[in-house]
Amino acid sequence: ANALVWFRNDLRLSDQPALAAALAAGQVPVCIYIHEPEEEGDWAPGAASDAWRHHSLAALDADLRERGSRLRIFRGPSRAVLEALAAACDAEAVYWTRRYEPAVERRDATIKRALREQGLRAESFNGALMFEPWQRATKQGDPYRVFTPFWRSALANWHMPATIDAPRSLPDLDGDPDGIALEQLKLRPARGWDATFWDHWIPGEAGAHEALDVFVDGALRGYREGRDRPDQVGTSRLSPHLHFGEIAPWRVVSALEEVRTAANGAYVRELGWREFAHHLLHHFPHTPEGNFNPRFDDFAWAKRDGRTLEAWRTGRTGVPIVDAGLRELWHTGWMHNRVRMIVASYLCKHMRQHWREGARWFWDTLVDADLANNTLGWQWVAGTGADASPYFRVFNPVTQSSKFDPDGRYVARWVPELAGLPVSLRHAPWTDPGKLRRHAPDYPPHPIADLAAGREAALAAYRALKDGA
Ligand code: FAD
Repeated sequence: ANALVWFRNDLRLSDQPALAAALAAGQVPVCIYIHEPEEEGDWAPGAASDAWRHHSLAALDADLRERGSRLRIFRGPSRAVLEALAAACDAEAVYWTRRYEPAVERRDATIKRALREQGLRAESFNGALMFEPWQRATKQGDPYRVFTPFWRSALANWHMPATIDAPRSLPDLDGDPDGIALEQLKLRPARGWDATFWDHWIPGEAGAHEALDVFVDGALRGYREGRDRPDQVGTSRLSPHLHFGEIAPWRVVSALEEVRTAANGAYVRELGWREFAHHLLHHFPHTPEGNFNPRFDDFAWAKRDGRTLEAWRTGRTGVPIVDAGLRELWHTGWMHNRVRMIVASYLCKHMRQHWREGARWFWDTLVDADLANNTLGWQWVAGTGADASPYFRVFNPVTQSSKFDPDGRYVARWVPELAGLPVSLRHAPWTDPGKLRRHAPDYPPHPIADLAAGREAALAAYRALKDGA
């Protein structure tokens, strides 16, 4: 008997419940991937995600071939492909691991129903989270809106799935159906914008495990302080691997348990934010577009300003820490968490542009772009979210920069034209216009949104909202 194993954002062979289900049932797993970005609604994967996915699919195919199987790639529509393939392969079952993006959840529910109506066994599994989004609820049975009680409840009901090693060998179908070549999906950006990404990343399951090992042997011990320092390697950089399911979060937790450092709790709590983000997205599916807190529907954002938005995107705002972050993003497909907060705050508060403008840019350029985490991150900084930073708390990018990049190394790395300035000036170069002009004649002479005036205008808009409520 045969079964289709439909790979999606679970591009791995260990801890792979869909694959395990086929093997447990004694079925030959026919491993497939279906490309169908239109089925993701307004949130088809962005360019950086596509680039990553290209490499991750190639890695998965190589891992399967090593075991005697392979990945068969198709173009959608997903339902039609699954139905046709099930018939062509004489499959009796279709297995996959769940995704939680609202458009994908809806699609998958329809597909599951249709396959079952045709007499196929259609089963989905949890492969992405430590807890399903619907497993945690308040005493009243409502979704959580605040992280701390959510996490307390998770810790009190702690139960991790067991880890499963990747199978050593896999049976495969003989011959057809073959699918198309990965290259035909044209997932790589046309002009090679991603070329510099791969100095920083190894997409695929082996790369994910290597990143985990490096972290556990290195930065983990100092994680509590190191996680806020963009000038150091203080975090795990597992986010794209987790997003694409190249590693299961419970595998990460189990690796940490083996070393038992004092920082484990702090790290697992960050994974907890990822769980919380998925909990919120599942229960509040409008939030990638709409404010979590509807009071902000009346907020007076400034008029959309294409010129300043372009300066922000390209890292030319004149605020070094902001520019460094956006350039790190452009060159590596990733940005440090502390700097994500700083650039987002500058956009939402000083520039008073709508958080969706920033969220869209991140969506297109992050290799870890994740609808749940990105929505939570932007709405948290904007102050519009669940359990968000209050709007009136406006990050001062100069203070942030001096505190978390004290030697200006991060700034100098990503905004090299400022590297010749003394450290004290790297955080606020406009305070010595003469030196700035001499060292970096092409760098903006002052911030595109003035720090004091931008802050005042943001607070005034917030007061107006409060008074109007
Ligand atoms: P580590 O510090 O090593 O954390 C380990 C893992 O925990 C991460 O890989 C991630 O999966 C999870 N995690 C950590 N912090 C958060 C958080 N605040 N919210 C949710 N999960 C978290 N993360 C994404 O994965 N995708 C996004 O699209 C995304 N967009 C963001 C947008 C904004 C405006 C902000 C402020 C944050 C965003 N984050 C996003 C969260 C966070 O910045 C990244 O997860 C983190 O920087 C990834 O680096 P790391 O793997 O080294 O993190």
